[in-house]
Amino acid sequence: MASIDVFTCYTLAGAGSLFGLGLISLVRVESPRVRRALWLYRLAFLCLAGFLWVGTLPVAQREQGMHAMIGVAAIGASLLAWGFRQLNGQRTPPALGVALTLGLGGLLWWAGAATSDATFAVLEAAVMSFIALGTLIDQGVLLRRATVRRGGELALLLVAGLFSLDWVLIFWHTLHWVGPYPDHLLFAPDWLLPASAVGVGLLPLSVASVVFAIVNDRLNQQLRERALRDDLTGTLSRRGLREHGERMLAGQEPARQDSGVAALMLDVDHFKAINDRHGHLVGDEVLRHLSAVMTEHLRDDALLARYGGEEFTVLLPVRSRQDAETVAERLRQAIEAQPCESRAGRIRVTVSIGVAFHQTALSLDEVLSRADTRLYEAKQAGRNRVICEPLAA
Ligand code: GH3
Ligand code: MG
Ligand code: MG
Repeated sequence: MASIDVFTCYTLAGAGSLFGLGLISLVRVESPRVRRALWLYRLAFLCLAGFLWVGTLPVAQREQGMHAMIGVAAIGASLLAWGFRQLNGQRTPPALGVALTLGLGGLLWWAGAATSDATFAVLEAAVMSFIALGTLIDQGVLLRRATVRRGGELALLLVAGLFSLDWVLIFWHTLHWVGPYPDHLLFAPDWLLPASAVGVGLLPLSVASVVFAIVNDRLNQQLRERALRDDLTGTLSRRGLREHGERMLAGQEPARQDSGVAALMLDVDHFKAINDRHGHLVGDEVLRHLSAVMTEHLRDDALLARYGGEEFTVLLPVRSRQDAETVAERLRQAIEAQPCESRAGRIRVTVSIGVAFHQTALSLDEVLSRADTRLYEAKQAGRNRVICEPLAA
């Protein structure tokens, strides 16, 4: 027989749920999606807190208490699974979520009241296996697609995996079991019962910690992404250019004479005059317009950054120097051809562009400084033009 008291584990599960409820209530997030997920966890923990009541019932009332609790527990578990889908951005139509959650809970209430112990045991294990396996599959699919695998998400996969294994084993056991059926309704074989009971006891605590870790990871990621973006235009910031640009340069094949990374430095011509005539807000509109035009005309593998003020930088892999010049010229022409429709009316803008090439021995700073030299030449030569570094440079 088990050396561990299942009802003590239920008490732990109930207390852990209250702790989870408190922990989740401390989390502050902006994203409506994550906020909705947190509400699902709050509801789930509220349901699972019922274990505290069952765990502390007098012995004579325990079985009856557990029969009432089992549907609530299924609702709580289903809400946790729904919460994880919501947190992961996997859509669940609300009507389906509510129907499944209440349906699973209702099924167990009905089975507890109207079927034999054997049928009830099979149904209970089937419902719990379904919820655990659903979460495991959801999480597996998500992690397969993810480019970066974070600790919190892997921990969730582990928790869902252990739970699935536990409940599938219990399900298998209930198919062949002829009784007796214990009043705690955890129909695990003797060798598995201690682990299953501890699993139930620790579930709310582990879920709360995993949710906390995942939300924390997301917030960190958001902060990092914000630091790498320019507020005004949404292009990369200088810091973002450094981070992504160095990765792009490092990923280049050892210099083939004519292929590599091209650096374009763009500066808006006579931008000060636009500000002076129409004001800074209109100047800002022009900058946003320019980044939109450039984004539209650049390939997805190009990096566009606002280097400062009215200067932009583009880094892009090119097959030949000719390619780089063509891209630069295409950008120049596109900007000239698409005036900014601002609140002050139509404003024509032109840019001067300097182009340099990355060669293996060059650092990002060096290649940008070379492009800047060409930009200066373009300005000197009369603006609204592209000047490329010559082949021998
Ligand atoms: P050039 O053709 O020689 O580049 O002339 P320019 O007027 O563009 O060059 P200059 O460097 O004299 O002026 C750049 C102006 O850009 C000055 C500054 O007020 C403006 N500027 C810098 N950052 C911003 C910004 O974020 N918003 C707005 N609206 N203006 C900015
Ligand atoms: Mg400038
Ligand atoms: Mg300028």
